[in-house]
Parts: sequence; structure tokens; C-alpha cells
Amino acid sequence: MPRRLLILGSTGSIGTQALEIVARDPELELVGLSAERSSDALIEQAQRFGVDRIALADADAGALAAEQWTDGEVLSGAEGLVKLVVESGADLVLNGLVGSAGLGPTVATLGEGIDLALANKESLVVGGELVMALAEATGAQILPVDSEHSALHQLLAGERPGTVEKLVLTASGGPFRGRTREDLQDVTVEEALKHPTWDMGGKISIDSATLMNKGLEVIEAFHLFGIPYERIDVVVHPQSIVHSMITLCDGAALAHLGHPDMGVPISYALHHPDRVDVPLRRLDLAEVGALTFEPVDHDAFPCLGLARAAAIAGGTAPCVLNAANEVAVHAFLRGGLGFLGIAAVIERTLDALAPAPVRAFESLYEADREARAIAAELVQAESERLPH
Ligand code: MG
Repeated sequence: MPRRLLILGSTGSIGTQALEIVARDPELELVGLSAERSSDALIEQAQRFGVDRIALADADAGALAAEQWTDGEVLSGAEGLVKLVVESGADLVLNGLVGSAGLGPTVATLGEGIDLALANKESLVVGGELVMALAEATGAQILPVDSEHSALHQLLAGERPGTVEKLVLTASGGPFRGRTREDLQDVTVEEALKHPTWDMGGKISIDSATLMNKGLEVIEAFHLFGIPYERIDVVVHPQSIVHSMITLCDGAALAHLGHPDMGVPISYALHHPDRVDVPLRRLDLAEVGALTFEPVDHDAFPCLGLARAAAIAGGTAPCVLNAANEVAVHAFLRGGLGFLGIAAVIERTLDALAPAPVRAFESLYEADREARAIAAELVQAESERLPH
């Protein structure tokens, strides 16, 4: 029996790589595709893979697609995405959406008891407790697609609870590794988008440049693996060959290695518990030569510390952190905020909104809205100070 797969965010970086894996594997049957707003690319994918139901998160893009494509059904808006999930009959949903927009479809998937290949880290950052409780209640599995968490999932698979001392996430350090805070004052969007080892979309590239990406990943690891924050470490590793490490009670340390290529974690999640052949360059340690590691420079990259503090504060704080980060990063990408302004906006938004307990998803949506409004005001104030 083929595995019925639904891909959310299929025109993004994770989605397009997932489709190449699907194209090689007759055991994976696509039952639906969705994108944020790229209607042309989405229709092309639907035609190529014989999919007859698609969804666009953006309502205008959805209306346009419905006019252009009459061979199947086009759903649109946030409700359209949820409908696509709930009525898909999928065995597995790959959530490759970017940002907190991924939370609704994550909840819909797990609520239906459908297994989730999760590339949308914001789902866990924003709604971790509720999302994990929902998976527990319906018995749906969450398979991480983030490379570090996929590595941890594999490393932890053979270990009994109680034997694991630490999780260690590696960070490439991004394009600005080694620079001081002073050096980062005037960096451009173009420089920030040049990621040294991973090929990713705009938002995630900026998150990697600020190290917020690693902060979000620490929170993601906490929820996925139930390890307290003081036992989750981060180390900078510029070659991105070691994807994560665990240390065990008997002094052993296990690491997951490979060339940086998202094809590996995507394939692992789509085929779990099986493994299939993936035509990628194999790791040759002699050819790699040296692997280096260094501590995080928290003065130049305060976002990791902000994420950790918000995580420990708990409640709505990680949701506020994430919303402020999304607003600040988008402002930076369109030239309305300096690079160091990203951390400043996040810190001041967190200061302005005291963390509240999360009782239902509604408290998260509310905190998200409030945080976005405050962060947008801070960006506005900041941009009036910027030279034009
Ligand atoms: Mg990652």
C-alpha cells in the first residue's frame, strides 16, 4: 500500500526537495499540495504529480488559481488549508510552511490523528505544550524534518529514558560568524542572506544569521524530546557536518554526521521507520579533513539568549518572541530595520508583554496578535531613526 502524502508549502525550499523524493518513490502517493501564494508554481506541481486538490493560504492567489486551473479544486485561506488537511485521507502530512501560519495546519493534522513530518518549527515554538498534548491524545506521530532534530530523533531511538544527559545542537554560525557586535551595525540584507552551508529560504536565512534559528530549535528540541532547557546545549560548528550530538550517562557521546543536505532529514521523515536509497554524496572523513567547534558569541548574537529566556519564562513568551521575530525579520528584509534592530525589537516586545499562561490555542492567537502590533510600532519608531 502506498503511503498517502499531503505537502503543505510545496513551492518552498523543503517542499520542492520533498517532491523530488516523491518523484523517485512509487510508494509515496501525493494527495494534495499547498502554497502561500505562488499559484503558477503550485498548479504546475499539481499537473506534474496528478494531484486534484490544492490550497493557497493567500485568498487572492487562491481566487486567481481557481480561474487558471479547472482540472481540480482550489481551496484558499487559512480555512482552506485546514479543509485540505482534514479531508485529505492522508497517512502523513509534511508541513513545510514558514512562520506561525504553520500552527493551524499542524493542529488540524494531529487532531485528525494523521502523522506529521514537521519542518515548521514555529508550530512547536508557539504552541509546543498544546501541540504535543494533542499528538499524545490522538496517537499521531511527529517526525522532525529540521536537520538537527532529525539527527536527535535517530540518535535517541536506541536509548532508554534516563540514560541521556545532554542534547547538543550544532549551529553553523551563519554568514556573520566571527564578527563583533560593532561589525554587525551596517550589514546588508544581501550579506545576511548568504548562508555558508545550507540552502534555505529568506526568513530562515536571516534567522540563521542572527542565531534566532538556533534559539527556535532549542525550544523545538525541548518539546519534541522532553529534555529540560539546562540540558540542551548549542555549539558553533562552521562545517555543518555534525548535525547533533547526545551525551549519555556512561560517558559515551553519539553524533549524527553527513554533508548538509535537507534531502536526508526529509527522506527520513517521509519513509520512517524504513530507510530508502538517497542519491547524495557520501561522507568521506579524510576528504573533510577537519571539523571545528567554538562557543556562541552571545554579545554579537543576542537572539539565542532571548529565545532561551523566553522559553524558560514559558506561557505565551515563546509565542511573543516568535511573532516579534517574524515582524522584525520581514522589516529587515524590506530595508525598514537594521540587523541589530532585529534583536532590539524582540527584546522590547518581550519586555512590553508579560508572559501569560496558555490554556487554549486562542490565548496563543491573542498573544501573537498583540506581539505583532507592538513589534510593528517598534519597527516604525526604529525606521524613523534610520538614515534614508
Ligand atoms: Mg535546523
